[in-house]
Amino acid sequence: MAAMPSEIEKLGAREIKITWDDGHVSVYRNPELRFACSCALCVEETTGVRRLRREQVPEEIAPTAMELVGNYAVQITWNDGHATGIYTYDHLRQLCPCDDCRRIRGMP
Ligand SMILES: [Zn+2]
Ligand SMILES: [Zn+2]
Repeated sequence: MAAMPSEIEKLGAREIKITWDDGHVSVYRNPELRFACSCALCVEETTGVRRLRREQVPEEIAPTAMELVGNYAVQITWNDGHATGIYTYDHLRQLCPCDDCRRIRGMP
């Protein structure tokens, strides 16, 4: 079974920390998480092409609200007014930037 977050919290003004029920801890930088949004406004549904450009995401971006959706995702409302982003736990786990996860994904 896939891991689920046991705790989601803001870490200072720039990061979000998720503690998973398998003990793993993920720390995401706010702009990276905002950029990874896969909603229909950010990603073209039919082609999968990302509409949002990385430079469109301000460094000061931060969540104003984080809400669990069912038992599979987190909805994040951002201070740029974007509120349609739903991040599934699987997606969040894939986005984890820690060394262990990067190694598993074969990223430098
Ligand atoms: Zn979005
Ligand atoms: Zn990780």
